[in-house]
Amino acid sequence: MAVTFKETYGLFIGGEFTPALSGETFDVFNPATGEKLAAAAKAEAADVDRAVKAAWSAFPQWAAMNVRDRSELLWAISDIVEENLEYLTEIETLNNGKLLREARCDIEDVVDQFRYFASCIRSGEGSYVDQGDGNFNILKREPLGVVGQIVPWNYPLSMACWKIAPAMAAGNCIVIKPASSTPLSLLIFAELVQSVIPAGVLNIVTGGGGSCGEALAAHPDIRKIAFTGSTAVGAKIGAIAGGNIIPSTLELGGKSAQILFPDCQWDRALDSVCEGILSNAGQICSAGSRAFIHADIYDEFVQALTERFQAVKVGNGMDDESEMGPVIDSHQLEVILDYVTIGKAEGARLATGGNRKCGGDFDKGYFMEPTLFADVTNQMRIAQEEIFGPVLACIRFTDEKEVIDMANDSPYGLAGSVWTQDINRGIRVAGAIGAGLVWINAFGLYPAGTSFGGYKKSGYGREAHKTTLDSYSQMKSIFVATAE
Ligand code: NAP
Ligand code: MG
Repeated sequence: MAVTFKETYGLFIGGEFTPALSGETFDVFNPATGEKLAAAAKAEAADVDRAVKAAWSAFPQWAAMNVRDRSELLWAISDIVEENLEYLTEIETLNNGKLLREARCDIEDVVDQFRYFASCIRSGEGSYVDQGDGNFNILKREPLGVVGQIVPWNYPLSMACWKIAPAMAAGNCIVIKPASSTPLSLLIFAELVQSVIPAGVLNIVTGGGGSCGEALAAHPDIRKIAFTGSTAVGAKIGAIAGGNIIPSTLELGGKSAQILFPDCQWDRALDSVCEGILSNAGQICSAGSRAFIHADIYDEFVQALTERFQAVKVGNGMDDESEMGPVIDSHQLEVILDYVTIGKAEGARLATGGNRKCGGDFDKGYFMEPTLFADVTNQMRIAQEEIFGPVLACIRFTDEKEVIDMANDSPYGLAGSVWTQDINRGIRVAGAIGAGLVWINAFGLYPAGTSFGGYKKSGYGREAHKTTLDSYSQMKSIFVATAE
């Protein structure tokens, strides 16, 4: 199916696409070409309210559905996504800019998340607690009700489905807001799966973060808010949720460390450090943006990385030859370029990159050169702050304790990796890194079942794991007294 977008996409409420009450829309662009792709309805608080009401209307029947039927329904969604894999892949690339092969991984991940949670719920069980004298508790899990979800633009459909799949699996109804820059894959996903999802179980509101997003987070009738995005907005969402006495889960920023010991498998480590910061043009919350390289291999490794960065073919993600796509918009590009200026002023050595790609088609989009700073110290802002672009900070270390201390000297704690062939050291260092996910001799793998979530300012809550179902449900204890 060749991708042609509709002129305008409505909000998805109660199983139907509908304009915003105001009739207003906003435009959505391709970051590689600057072209307008479509317009989307601009929801305000009154639209969010309609969506929350539609979700509550659907809730009793959805929550009461036999688990086997619900599981099969999730499986049916995964089949539809799989049948439309290439179609959704292209949509994601057109709207987000990422490479087709990156987008394809995202959509494959969507398929797998639905299948994973469809499977998990088939083995869900409650428990029995003996209280003596003929008394006991039955413990079971019940859905929360209607939940709100707000997702970012870097993995538009897969981040949405990391939230939708477990929330639906646990028996909740959903109101979700995609990022304003990338709403299309989620809206088209809804078009594709609407025939199998009962009306009102999934509702999508598109609109601005400060208006529609805040109205959703603050809506008095949602029972949980799940958010992925910046730490600044996450702090706001957490505070709003606290005020309404509802739980929140926050997946926020990061400054993840890749730690390279002299006995690392050179080629694999080199590939992985490049991929860890250049895939998705570095716009990954768990990007490996700090490379801690042992002094014995530092110069040679940085030289090899520099050559690799210089060879990367930056271009439109739709072109199979491209190896790195554009960043999402002009604002993000400015943020990245500002950090290049900051890094130079702090005394780091710009080994390669640092500029916007200019000339010809590059001028229409937002393309950044792969950028490597050497001679970085961990105290520099480029080592402490999330840049969210293809900018790697290379830091030298000499011993294990020193590198653990430096890796942990960060406000964030989302991910990290250790490269060594000494398995004892690998496990020791991975255990000592304060982050929710640490790889040994790998980076950037997130198959369903690998719990994902932050320590410290990277947020709280875990996704892509069966325990995510717990965060979309509440425990009910039924105390039974049988003694006469
Ligand atoms: P953001 O503002 O946190 O946006 C994430 C989501 O939150 C979007 O859907 C956004 O809607 C919404 N939002 C924004 N303000 C809101 C508010 N006051 N209340 C409720 N929802 C709100 O992130 P960004 O501005 O796109 O990017 C800024 C920085 O955040 C990046 O440079 C990067 O460092 C970080 N970031 C992290 C992740 C991650 O995966 N952890 C993802 C994206 C960005 P709109 O799109 O309509 O504004
Ligand atoms: Mg923002």
